[in-house]
Amino acid sequence: MLLNTKSDMIFLSPPHLGEKEKDYIQEALDSNWIAPTGPHLDAFEKEVADYIGVDGAVALSSGTAAIHVALSLLNIEKGDKVFCSTLTFVASANPILYLGGEPVFIDSEPTSWNMSSVALAKALKEAAIKDELPKAVIVVHLYGQTAKMDEIMEICNDYEVPVIEDAAESLGSTYKGKASGSIGEYGIFSFNGNKIITSSGGGMIVSNSKEALEKARFLATQAKDPAPFYQHSKMGFNYRLSNILAAIGRAQFSLLDERVHLRRKVFTVYQKELNQINGVSFMPEYLGSRSSRWLTVLLVDEKVTGNSASEIVTYLNQQNIEARAVWKPLHLQPLFKGCSYYSHYPGKHVAEELFQSGICLPSGSSLTEIDQMFVINHLKKVLESSYDREAVI
Ligand SMILES: *Cc1c(COP(=O)(O)O)cnc(C)c1O
Repeated sequence: MLLNTKSDMIFLSPPHLGEKEKDYIQEALDSNWIAPTGPHLDAFEKEVADYIGVDGAVALSSGTAAIHVALSLLNIEKGDKVFCSTLTFVASANPILYLGGEPVFIDSEPTSWNMSSVALAKALKEAAIKDELPKAVIVVHLYGQTAKMDEIMEICNDYEVPVIEDAAESLGSTYKGKASGSIGEYGIFSFNGNKIITSSGGGMIVSNSKEALEKARFLATQAKDPAPFYQHSKMGFNYRLSNILAAIGRAQFSLLDERVHLRRKVFTVYQKELNQINGVSFMPEYLGSRSSRWLTVLLVDEKVTGNSASEIVTYLNQQNIEARAVWKPLHLQPLFKGCSYYSHYPGKHVAEELFQSGICLPSGSSLTEIDQMFVINHLKKVLESSYDREAVI
């Protein structure tokens, strides 16, 4: 591939292969370990657990499966309430529905864009009064930025509600020096093709409870009882990751720190080039957090820029640039019509505002300088009205 010419299509977050994938896959093939068991799988789990700083991990077929297993470990049943960040991908909440649970959505707060502890405290207080406390709270770390975990853990501990960290987008990010995914009862990761590293498809659940992880492994392999024949007393899933995919995941994982470095560099270039434009700002990185900058997200103030976020996304797509809107909040999704939702403050809907004005920009660790400058120049052009004004001042 020629690196000094522009790509036909500039993708949001394409897979970025390293050099070890082929060797690892070949090794798995040569050794006949192509089942959902084998040495790469074991090593992948250990390497991720060690890096995150937890006692163990179970590799699964997707991040969604990992959330489903985490909720199952917490015995979510029909009619149980589960609180979940509203500003996220639908996969954060779908497993609540798989188990017949009832999601309650919690708004974001402006400095992290993640779960508002104000809204969470209000929702828990009301739930306690009604004797309807949730059986779990799913906290999402959006676009590589961690939620404010101290506040969230403190409130949840007060009500003794376990926390699941959806760290699908934040592998490699830290909160006060701790890895995202290591703070709650369970952490989950995704190795889907668009994430910071990929096994082509896969996920993981991590925890400090060896007992829970053993149960996760049991549930993910059809819940087979320890008997000399096929006996089952619980409903299980077929959710294990194959050794071949773990081989790809391991090769990718060995480069995680470098990938984080590259994504942060992509962010820095966007920021340097676009920060001067009136009405433009970026997803913040608050003191104490270190974002992987999985995606660079831009906010536009339509009143100043003249163009709305969705108009800018359409314009960029026409230039063969894959830009996307920020996640549409789950409380606005037809799928979750009728579910409860708690805003940051009365009349202050942070997730809705971010959805209206946010744009996810191409942020892959393989993004070339030429491609990034192409994106930047088009952004400058589409934001030109304010750009000119800036020049005049
Ligand atoms: C990608 C993603 C998931 C799901 O991961 P899969 O591996 O695709 O199932 C869950 N939550 C969030 C926030 C995600 O971005």
